[in-house]
Amino acid sequence: MKRRMLVAGNWKMNGVAADLAEVAAIADAARDHAGVDAALCLPATLIERATCAAPGFAIGGQDVHQAPSGAHTGCVSAAMLIDAGATLTIVGHSERRDEQCETDGQVRAKAEAAVGAGLAVILCVGESETVRESGSAVATVAAQLDASLPSENHRRLAVAYEPIWAIGTGKVPSTADIAEMHAALRERLVAAYGEVGQGVRILYGGSVKASNAAEIFAISDVDGALVGGASLKAADFIPIIVAGERASPRTST
Ligand code: PEP
Repeated sequence: MKRRMLVAGNWKMNGVAADLAEVAAIADAARDHAGVDAALCLPATLIERATCAAPGFAIGGQDVHQAPSGAHTGCVSAAMLIDAGATLTIVGHSERRDEQCETDGQVRAKAEAAVGAGLAVILCVGESETVRESGSAVATVAAQLDASLPSENHRRLAVAYEPIWAIGTGKVPSTADIAEMHAALRERLVAAYGEVGQGVRILYGGSVKASNAAEIFAISDVDGALVGGASLKAADFIPIIVAGERASPRTST
């Protein structure tokens, strides 16, 4: 099955009003490269202003609470993200799993809340360096995916394989290791959702840059990228969008 590529940026805890010019420049370029889907997941404080700076461009959150509303100080619900203009959100990023001690069960609940409310979701999974070195990366990440997947696909789900040791480090797994992991994740998606699982995009994330994007996008079952540091500046991110379009023979499914 052919899948359209998705190149999504994750700004993490970066970005103030002065950076909206970067959002606008990225959105302009994305309009010129319509053969690929592009998106930016921004701090919640910037979402609404970003949708004004870049009308029609996909802006997302970086996390969502599983509850629709209530006594959850500092948290943001799916309805709030949508109200601010977001069309997608990341869930289960390793920095949240680590710093906020998020469990697979919570990630699943967040994914269910988000897709149920109408948001597209990028669900992150990935192994630590210790797990990679122990030889159990595939089994560990497959189990993490099984435990984090929303029970219904809703056709708005993408998965991002992000080895923790590759995030922000400049290290990238070998082509064979990425291919092996993505094939295993595809198998789990098909086991969970049947044929619909073939349509779920599996992104790679971890030190993707303009210089390595084309090589990564050529790997089988890589349907795009989740990009941290290299998504902050239009000059760094646009070439990754362009590489995504070049790797996208793919019509939407
Ligand atoms: C990320 O944190 O999602 C990420 C992939 O970061 P970087 O591209 O900076 O490694």
